[in-house]
Amino acid sequence: MAEIAHPLIPSILRGLKGCCPSCGDGPLFWKYLKVNGRCEACDLDLARYPADDGPAYLTILLVGHLIVAPLLFFPIVWRSPPAYSLPLILLPLALLTLLILPRVKGGWIGMMYALGVKDSDARLHTADAID
Ligand SMILES: [Zn+2]
Repeated sequence: MAEIAHPLIPSILRGLKGCCPSCGDGPLFWKYLKVNGRCEACDLDLARYPADDGPAYLTILLVGHLIVAPLLFFPIVWRSPPAYSLPLILLPLALLTLLILPRVKGGWIGMMYALGVKDSDARLHTADAID
């Protein structure tokens, strides 16, 4: 069984805030979703913690289950003309998704940091390992 390399909850919370999961001082991103190569404060190699598609799947899961599914309980959503309801629903959903995605990615990288998963471990977690 894998051991937790660093405290899990503080690492995830620092990542959710967009900060380095180790020190919490340096910024995690240098652009919207681009991870800094190294932390400016503690010099941790941030680029070696993989995010891949995990944050996108988790963001879709969160928005889909917490926002879209409950919206369908309101009759105005499916009784109103699509020309009005679709833009009124899809635009805020897209904005919410874009707002949540970097936070989820930061939390994901914080979790990878806490669990000690690095990009060099990728061959251990894929079907390519069989080849
Ligand atoms: Zn740091």
